[in-house]
Amino acid sequence: MPSAPQRFGYYRRLSAKDRAIYRRSDAITSLALHDPPRVGLPCDAIEAALREDDRRAVQRASQALSRAVCEDLGVSVVPVRVLARRPADATGELHGLYERHEDGRTLIRVWMRTAAHERVVAFRTYLRTLVHELCHHLDYEHLRLADSYHTRGFFQRESSLVRQLRPAPETADEGEPRDPSPQLALPGFG
Ligand SMILES: [Zn+2]
Repeated sequence: MPSAPQRFGYYRRLSAKDRAIYRRSDAITSLALHDPPRVGLPCDAIEAALREDDRRAVQRASQALSRAVCEDLGVSVVPVRVLARRPADATGELHGLYERHEDGRTLIRVWMRTAAHERVVAFRTYLRTLVHELCHHLDYEHLRLADSYHTRGFFQRESSLVRQLRPAPETADEGEPRDPSPQLALPGFG
């Protein structure tokens, strides 16, 4: 017997229109870069800058990676702003954020220090966060989805991009949230 599609719990609370977007997102499990080695070039600079705790250099290299991914896939380049310490509240730490405004402006914010201990985050964790936020941008501009949901397909696309940018045996940070919030649930970001 074929198993039912594995959808996150919040799917049930979506409208019929949003469920259709969710299902389209869920069905796309990878993104293919045209020239992965070239696109992944800034990864070395990101890794070095994190090691040296150089926020400006992390931002420069992150912006270069965003540009390379967006240009490779033929979409508008999303600016990246790298901030120091992650904001935290009772529900946990914010790692990154994708903003998309009605006037067309977009922005990715990523944090390079944990809130709890103010340590610089590990390179692969940082890369995954940046790629995660880029995937939200690509949902709108590359896949032409009307909204960007955290679906299993979304997390698979994120993994596929990380693997292309930095081929390496994946470690334990491969996990995904069990029942993540839909994207852009924060007030003011739509
Ligand atoms: Zn997200």
